[in-house]
Amino acid sequence: MVKRLYNFNPGPAALPLEVLEQAQKELVEYREAGLSLMEMSHRSRQVEELNEETQALLLELLGLEKGYRALFMGGGASTQFALVPLNLLAPGTAGSYALTGSFAEKACNEAAYVGETHIAASSKDAGWRSVPQASGIRPAANAAYLHITTNNTIEGSRYNELPETGDIPLIADMTSDLLSRRMDFRKFALIYAGAQKNLGPAGVTAVIIREDLLPRLSKSIPLILRYETFVKDKSLYNTPPVHTIYMMNLVLKWTLRQGGLERLEQLNADKANLLYRVIDASAGFYKGIIDVPDRSHMNVTWRMADGELERLFVKESERHGFEGLAGHRSVGGLRASVYNAVPAEACRALADFMADFQRRHG
Ligand SMILES: *Cc1c(COP(=O)(O)O)cnc(C)c1O
Repeated sequence: MVKRLYNFNPGPAALPLEVLEQAQKELVEYREAGLSLMEMSHRSRQVEELNEETQALLLELLGLEKGYRALFMGGGASTQFALVPLNLLAPGTAGSYALTGSFAEKACNEAAYVGETHIAASSKDAGWRSVPQASGIRPAANAAYLHITTNNTIEGSRYNELPETGDIPLIADMTSDLLSRRMDFRKFALIYAGAQKNLGPAGVTAVIIREDLLPRLSKSIPLILRYETFVKDKSLYNTPPVHTIYMMNLVLKWTLRQGGLERLEQLNADKANLLYRVIDASAGFYKGIIDVPDRSHMNVTWRMADGELERLFVKESERHGFEGLAGHRSVGGLRASVYNAVPAEACRALADFMADFQRRHG
């Protein structure tokens, strides 16, 4: 038996053990092909099938089989910060952004290199402690789209209620909460997510695009940057990251076996609440960073009295087999990322460790 740490890494993040084990079994020879999948042509029947099956699985999990396409692209979620405006921000229109954390802000900053941007709401002055009320998010009159970040990975907040945008396409960076909870996905014209939180290993970004957006896409950018190219060729325009897509395929099947989004949403709420309960019962020893209603169920963040105590916490946690609890380098504090593949058992162990650490150091 391999010894596995309790993995709370923010991304790349935990993968289900059974997925890793299946991948290990199939690594050298893929399903009696006489080759590893990594050695096969991306034009082979096996890879074509894998690619299309994985796209279909993703749409199925989201209930978007009709009217949407799933694309697999390179460059991480950060490349989508640029591709969204390159494809959709026409002259005379503005990209509207709700700023709820540093990834949302980065998305907006990239768009400013492409065209006009507009800030539809921001919680920056409040230290990103909350997410704006849906009714307080006002897209520009000439908005090409409204962009939101449904879960703020670094800060540890999330949307509970989606803004109403009427005819304005709603676009979301769902990198850190896609597949972790149900949402009214049909409200979105475009969704994107880097794989390395809930979908698989790093190396591919899933883009889900509503078909009615296709006629609006720019035809003056290079082919390789166009969503249209990936739609036309089912994401096989050039060589895709085949092995990463294979890993995503296994993770998506695992997600279905867990009972899909409804069951995972419940499990994730229970997991996050194990930690929030310790924070809230600690009489200020652990200080939650985010306003209670907006707390994320994927990234649980807190601070302690000072940096010294926080460093001691991280050091001791590592000795007890916990990985990845230091907060993002830009904000400090502590963060436990409890994505789909993090088992409840790991969260129970962390909750116990936190209570014990408080007894010893409180
Ligand atoms: C991790 C993350 C990103 C950055 O993803 P890359 O694939 O590293 O570019 C962007 N947005 C959100 C919400 C994230 O969680």
